Amino acid sequence: MTQPQGVLYLVATPIGNLGDLSERSVESLRSSDLVACEDTRVTAKLLAHLGLARPTTSYREENELRKAPELAQRIEQGESIALVSDAGMPAISDPGFRLIRECRRRKLNVVPLPGPNAALTALAASGLPTDKFLFLGFPPSKTSGRKTTYGKWRDFPGSIVFYESKHRIAKSLVDLEDVLGKDRYICVAREMTKVHEAFHVGPAGEVRQAVSERSQKGEFVIVVAPQGYVL
Ligand code: SAM
Repeated sequence: MTQPQGVLYLVATPIGNLGDLSERSVESLRSSDLVACEDTRVTAKLLAHLGLARPTTSYREENELRKAPELAQRIEQGESIALVSDAGMPAISDPGFRLIRECRRRKLNVVPLPGPNAALTALAASGLPTDKFLFLGFPPSKTSGRKTTYGKWRDFPGSIVFYESKHRIAKSLVDLEDVLGKDRYICVAREMTKVHEAFHVGPAGEVRQAVSERSQKGEFVIVVAPQGYVL
């Protein structure tokens, strides 16, 4: 007898505004046997908002290696598992890659439910070139590493997208200006889809100053334009 086909749903969740969750994403959560989530408390709130009562399990950086084969085995045995992170697309600077790779190795169904993603949202709204871009996740946490990274990609002939934390955004922009110069065009996208959404676009020196003059609470994406680009 053949096994029933299980599935891994990759469910993108809102990066701020709950209205950005798609109908298809909600349906996949509703029909899943289990929701694998980065932080079960965060996902419990989302499920409660949707009026869904689904069992959850934690799948995060610290337990990915152990959990990936366990969850893949359950899918192999016919279960539907929805993978979500706290916000945005799972596996993009978030847990997920190992489970998806395990499912691919076992030739299991992987069904993506596309949706919010901070990198693409910032790039699209920046006014900086979108035809070619490089996504580098989070820059290193120390100045020396950040400067090396910014220097390494200085001449990339397209836009470059970074995530940055509220603890480091100010220092990171200082390092970026030091390495790429005060005239390099950048965009800092802050708190997208939330009440305090803001985009600072212009030469690095001006954007650095504008960001440093405000509170640095919130979430930030940095987009760097190719050398020589002006708005
Ligand atoms: N998987 C997520 C995605 O698809 O966008 C990214 C997760 S990563 C751990 C979190 C980072 O994404 C934040 O530190 C910030 O750089 C960026 N981010 C997430 N939500 C954001 C928002 N609403 N506005 C600006 N940046 C955001």
